[in-house]
Amino acid sequence: MIISLAEIMQIPNESRQMEIPVEAERIHVAGMDHKVISKEPLKLTVTNLGNRRVALQGATKIVLAIPCSRCLDEVDVPFEIEIDDEIDFRQKEAGPDEIPDERVYIDGTNLDVERLIYDEILLDFPLQTLCREDCKGICKVCGVNLNRETCSCDQTVLDPRMAAFQDIFDQFKEV
Ligand SMILES: [Zn+2]
Ligand SMILES: [Zn+2]
Repeated sequence: MIISLAEIMQIPNESRQMEIPVEAERIHVAGMDHKVISKEPLKLTVTNLGNRRVALQGATKIVLAIPCSRCLDEVDVPFEIEIDDEIDFRQKEAGPDEIPDERVYIDGTNLDVERLIYDEILLDFPLQTLCREDCKGICKVCGVNLNRETCSCDQTVLDPRMAAFQDIFDQFKEV
């Protein structure tokens, strides 16, 4: 949803609270679409600080389905999003020689709420997601989920880098 800040910016000391529904059904991160399992409306307070500056304070909670890094089972991952930002529109309107404001969720005096939330999720996105601490992953040979099934595949296939270490150890043994 796009929220116009133009009116608030014209009223000195104006502060408004709003609840903005989150529209996204899926969030695209790292080449994958992640299903939105649940979402709360964004509670946002917009305050006119004067001198063409606006403060944004808000909070929402979004739960995404993210595949486990080891077994690929989907895990519900909650994102507690807290927004505490200040936008300086003098900077936004900077000339070509000045440093531009890199915030992409502001266009003119419009605030793109979906983009704002997306940026926050991107910042908080975990490097690794595990369904449980001791997830056994999937068998590299037959592909079964080792948390649910066992298989009789030979798991001793060494990583080529590990094999190199093994050679060094063998050399020491010979001495
Ligand atoms: Zn797992
Ligand atoms: Zn197997």
